[in-house]
Amino acid sequence: MAGNGNRNGNGRAIGIDLGTTYSCVAAWQHDRIEIIPNDQGNRTTPSQVAFTAAERLIGDAAKNQVANNPINTIYDAKRLIGCRFSDPTVQRDIMFWPFKVIPGDGHKPVVVVTYKGEEKRFSPEEISSMVLTKMKDIAKAYLGSTVTDAVVTVPAYFNDSQRQATKDAGTIAGLNVMRIINEPTAAAIAYGFYKGAASSVAKNVLIFDFGGGTFDVTVATIKEDVIEVKATAGDTHLGGQDIDNRMVNHFVSEFKLKKGKDISGDPKAIRRLRTSCERAKRILSSSLETPIDIESLFEGIDLFSTITRAKFEQLNMYLFSRCMELVEKCVSDAKMDKSSVDEVVLVGGSSRIHKVQQMLQEFFEGKEVRKTINLDEAVAYGAAALAAKLNGEGNDKVQNVVFVDVTPLSLGIESNLGVMDVFIPRNTPIPTRTEKIRWTAYDNQTSVPFRVYQGERSKARDNNPLGQFELQGIPAVPRGAAKFKVWFDIDENGITNVSAEHIGSGLKNKITITGAKRKLPKYQIEKMVKDAKKYKREDEEYMTKVGARNDLENYAYDIRNTTRCAAGIEAADKMEIEKAFESTMKWLESNKLANVDAFKEKIEELEMIYNPIVAKMHSAGPSIVELD
Ligand code: ADP
Ligand code: MG
Repeated sequence: MAGNGNRNGNGRAIGIDLGTTYSCVAAWQHDRIEIIPNDQGNRTTPSQVAFTAAERLIGDAAKNQVANNPINTIYDAKRLIGCRFSDPTVQRDIMFWPFKVIPGDGHKPVVVVTYKGEEKRFSPEEISSMVLTKMKDIAKAYLGSTVTDAVVTVPAYFNDSQRQATKDAGTIAGLNVMRIINEPTAAAIAYGFYKGAASSVAKNVLIFDFGGGTFDVTVATIKEDVIEVKATAGDTHLGGQDIDNRMVNHFVSEFKLKKGKDISGDPKAIRRLRTSCERAKRILSSSLETPIDIESLFEGIDLFSTITRAKFEQLNMYLFSRCMELVEKCVSDAKMDKSSVDEVVLVGGSSRIHKVQQMLQEFFEGKEVRKTINLDEAVAYGAAALAAKLNGEGNDKVQNVVFVDVTPLSLGIESNLGVMDVFIPRNTPIPTRTEKIRWTAYDNQTSVPFRVYQGERSKARDNNPLGQFELQGIPAVPRGAAKFKVWFDIDENGITNVSAEHIGSGLKNKITITGAKRKLPKYQIEKMVKDAKKYKREDEEYMTKVGARNDLENYAYDIRNTTRCAAGIEAADKMEIEKAFESTMKWLESNKLANVDAFKEKIEELEMIYNPIVAKMHSAGPSIVELD
């Protein structure tokens, strides 16, 4: 099979790496998987959305204006998606964000911004959907085709609510999310492709994905076109931004000490400091020392300082060690010895950090740490390969890819004693199904609750609650006499279904819970889809307006410049054009965003002045010297 054909009417399928800090989109094109550059020519796009008095900006445009508009520029939606407002990680993140996050319905976090002079509230799903819409539009423009189907990646360590919420974000963006896959698994697929000729000897590969917000590590075995994930571990709150935060804290303390001023309450100062710290961090991946100079950081006082690589490493050693602990855990979960890992593949921007590479090399006792695949693009690449496969696009190599993923967290129900009764242990290959028989806890029990949890703690309630249901109307019998069949299903997206059925006595009670209890209700998703279309329309209207304004401005300049340089135009006419030009500029100044018709009318007014003058000149003979 070859070419770009697809088997449904949804156009081309794409792979989207929806990152905490950067997103990337790829698709099958020109006989290979291609990373698609955005309208700025960049191959990754900041996962940011900004709201201003006039418009909504997504991606580079949002990031570029952040210094002037920190409270209405939303980033890190991925750190909020599928989480509860009260989650300790969310509470900690809020302290660092310049934008406002409040508790919403069902304990979900909601961001609050001012857009076009009005207060607006958005769920993390909606913000992520805006980023996804941008990625979809980037692909659409490049592929010149409709785009509906997508594979979207999530950190392997995302729990069920986070996966479900990411899927919802896709729906709001008008995407059909064919599959949610784990980022390191996508990177493993990309690696399998990159290696070129498939090897018939099985290779154990460790994918080390250290990004902006999350850290994931996966051990996979690759043999021919089959990628089998053996184990995965990670932390959904461990990434480059945590490193930036530590650097920011360091300089806030230093400023307090040296200048006696506390800048921590000034969002703009913190934002500027964070930007400088992030830049310094990148430089320290190749240099031993770098200055941090920010003029007039706070109350007119400058920050002039430096940071060495040694200091940087000391500030962040805890984070780097945490990565290494997870590497160790993952290797041991894969039931391997570290000596049987054949290759280490680096993914994610933070993997560029010198110390991190050094620690990995030491851990694997000098084994070469691979940088063969592009660490910013591998995840989108792998997602696109899967998208093409599922959509019937691409070549044989794409179609032959097979991968087996695992569930990152154990799943179970709360036992009668409050203990986590594990049905599916972590790192079980998915899709999977487990069935067990359970029974009543006391005499004459007529209703039995089933509380479902996800996590590794032995006390069920210390884990992530996924939802609960009850079986009611059970005949009253002695303890243990009423039995239930309980089963867990995990589909290929890693989304879980739990069911229970009373057996014996002819009574059949059965209930299924799907997804997480924090999943958005359907009517809310529908409203969000409608809102998303409205915002998109508003963006387009705004761009049309800007275009019309631009046309008027260009026309005014054109006629003025042409007239100025033309011989054969009478002085009085030249004067009139100059006057018309001046008055147009004045009008533009006070009508920055008039409606499209007003701009068009103004052009017509100018034409009424200009055209007769040109006509007069043509009849007089000499030709016009036009300027560009
Ligand atoms: P995500 O997928 O989570 O959005 P990325 O893989 O795009 O993250 O990585 C972004 C992170 O990588 C940011 O925190 C950025 O500061 C960091 N980063 C990028 N380049 C470097 C570098 N040269 N040295 C250290 N960190 C870097
Ligand atoms: Mg990433």
